[in-house]
Amino acid sequence: MIDSNSSQKIVVLGTGGTIAGHSTLVNDNIGYAAGHIGIETLTQGVPGLAQHLQGQILVFEQLAQIDSKDMDFAIWKSLASRVAMLLVEPDVQGIVITHGTDTLEETAFFLHSVVGSDKPIVLTCAMRPASALSPDGPQNILDALSVVMDANARGVVVVCAGVVHAAEHVQKMHPYRLDAFSSGEAGPLAWIEEGRVRWSFNAKPKRALIRNALTLPETESWPQVEIVLNHVGANGKVVDALLIAGVEGLVVACTGNGTVSNGLMASLQRAMAMGVKVVRSTRCALGRVISISDALVPDSKGLSPVKARVALLLALMK
Ligand code: ASP
Repeated sequence: MIDSNSSQKIVVLGTGGTIAGHSTLVNDNIGYAAGHIGIETLTQGVPGLAQHLQGQILVFEQLAQIDSKDMDFAIWKSLASRVAMLLVEPDVQGIVITHGTDTLEETAFFLHSVVGSDKPIVLTCAMRPASALSPDGPQNILDALSVVMDANARGVVVVCAGVVHAAEHVQKMHPYRLDAFSSGEAGPLAWIEEGRVRWSFNAKPKRALIRNALTLPETESWPQVEIVLNHVGANGKVVDALLIAGVEGLVVACTGNGTVSNGLMASLQRAMAMGVKVVRSTRCALGRVISISDALVPDSKGLSPVKARVALLLALMK
């Protein structure tokens, strides 16, 4: 638990996204430029911000200013090491990260895998730009701060539309609605109601550390890990092309319970024989691959294809 007397700083890291987006038309919720407004201006402009805090000082850092469809390894590495360094400062109570919604779940799971801390790291976002008639970002920022200030919050979580999601389970499920995220069958960790966090009965906020953010190698040497899809007519030619391109890991977004066409399976077996690590996930939105005990290709242990890719990427790092 955080000692509220010694932890009085909340760091707000901006990376861009729709939450910092701007359009010249207030009724334009899609034709805007993401990553436009600086993190300090964005946060300080939230109505009721001062009253919402419990005496904490907000500190702002603009770590990136991008549309998260363009998130890359270099930003991931600097974000992860900055977060890890901030968290060991005794007066930092927790961190809020503003991020675009498109790849939010990947960044959340990456940070969850490389930052081991009992302090909260809360990613938040918006589906409407800051210039909208009724933007959702300001409430999401206040909600993210509520989670950081909650004594039970720890590890990496995502806050959107009043719901707190675990990094392992959160997925963007809708391209337009304000409550665009879901934790699927796992359900939310918590809800934020009038600034109070109501934890789910089953919530187990946790920390995870697969790899230390401060010892990540230079991004040029990060392994090439790609996602391939099983679908009608999948014949494995894409795998053969990736082998020529030097791929080191493959996640298969399989049909159903981890099924793969014969043609795709033959090329995956060729890949495995060449030393490429292959993991099966499912393209189904809910559930997980339930493997037979002697399955040729291991399953992703419930991780979605994009998160299984992050896990494989980290596992393959030298
Ligand atoms: N394309 C935007 C982004 O991911 C979408 C959003 O933030 O909602 O940055």
